[in-house]
Amino acid sequence: MAEKTQGEILREKLFYEPKQGYEIFDEEKIKKANDFCEGYKKYLDEGKTERECVTESVALLKENGFTEYQFGSKYNPGDGVYINNCGKYIIAARIGDNTADNGVNIIAAHIDSPRIDLKARPLYEDSGFAFFKTHYYGGIKKYQWPAIPLALHGVVVKADGSIVKVTIGEDDCDPVFTVTDLLPHLADAQYKRPSKDLIKGEELNILIGSRPFKADEESGTAKLAIMKLLHDKYGITERDFTTAELEAVPAFKSRDVGFDRSIICGYGQDDRVCAYTSLMAILGIAQEKTPAQTALCVFADKEEIGSYGNTGLGSNYLEYFIMDLVAACSDCNNTDFSQNARRCFENSKCLSADVCAALDPTFPDVVEKNNCGFINHGTVIGKYFGSRGKSGTNDASAEYLAKIRKLYDDAGVVWQTGELGKVDAGGGGTVAMYVARMNIDTVDVGVPVLSMHSPMELTSKADVYMAYRGFKAFYVDE
Ligand code: MN
Ligand code: MN
Repeated sequence: MAEKTQGEILREKLFYEPKQGYEIFDEEKIKKANDFCEGYKKYLDEGKTERECVTESVALLKENGFTEYQFGSKYNPGDGVYINNCGKYIIAARIGDNTADNGVNIIAAHIDSPRIDLKARPLYEDSGFAFFKTHYYGGIKKYQWPAIPLALHGVVVKADGSIVKVTIGEDDCDPVFTVTDLLPHLADAQYKRPSKDLIKGEELNILIGSRPFKADEESGTAKLAIMKLLHDKYGITERDFTTAELEAVPAFKSRDVGFDRSIICGYGQDDRVCAYTSLMAILGIAQEKTPAQTALCVFADKEEIGSYGNTGLGSNYLEYFIMDLVAACSDCNNTDFSQNARRCFENSKCLSADVCAALDPTFPDVVEKNNCGFINHGTVIGKYFGSRGKSGTNDASAEYLAKIRKLYDDAGVVWQTGELGKVDAGGGGTVAMYVARMNIDTVDVGVPVLSMHSPMELTSKADVYMAYRGFKAFYVDE
């Protein structure tokens, strides 16, 4: 090999020219990433709503020895507990060797995803068809949702409080549902609409049936026929929709993409990719050894609509749970307790785990190439996301970033920097600021995604695996 020039030597020493994941990934790591993602795809398919994701995660926690947290109980190093907030938000904790006033290591992800929710009075009939009226949840490009198969997931709570679980459209034998779109032949007027109104919110009507109850004038409605089917199967009446949460989501399963199978497509990867990777990390450290700091894995709801609501990270739930943990792991009087709780918050650290926009070569203009995330370049560490002048972001400190940088480098985690698009192009927030509000050092970390918020989001297997490796390193950090 030719000797390096002085310039080359200096460049290597002084420049930051990140390598692509595949320049660092050896065959063994690629195999590990592929294997890891088989479990991930299954997790995506089993949990398409926040409730299902909680159920799936609790099952995995229990399999690995975690028990439901009991208020007032004392816990010891090595114990694994979880709490469940209304079936939509869970926190899992592995108690560390240090008492909780020394701080806890938190990874916070969200498990709600953009989708189409039913309205309170959804059922109506028009021209012989039965439909559901909907109100979409989170930021969707509405035109992406018609003309695809949809499944219906959720719960109906009846007047007596009994709960009917609904999942239709996932089994190959199930029917699916769909939103209709106009044929191109007659779409001239539709094409003239501003593109965000190509399909309007009130046009996201889900087709659910077309056969009348009877072929006579009086009773011959498709609405009646559908209501009778629902009553026969679930024992519900139309009024029960007013106390239901029914969500339409894409009916297809997650799959590999590309001849090389390097990419995963699936619904709801924002942000269940971070839920799965952090869950596997906390389960993994549990098996190996008790961590020094107590490890917390947080899966919150409502992020896609601003983290409001009691099951969102904007609520006091996490804060109160951490205070309970401080109490559960110490024998102190009330004065000591409030001091210990404050010490706990100030000594804690958090990775706000969420997806980041990746460069899409077809639409390069919305990102700035030196500072965006790239597929296959590893997990993303983002000092800030937010939008237009860093609004709605936590903006991590250089000191805390340096700590995470060293941690990841020492653990051999392939990572890159990222931000959410060009400075004035738009942007978006995460749960970071809701954790930072408790006086906890927080930084955005996650996985680059293509086609974010679409029915079929894309991630790279290598990046998913690196997110997991980073989370694991974070939990075992002393
Ligand atoms: Mn997200
Ligand atoms: Mn999102």
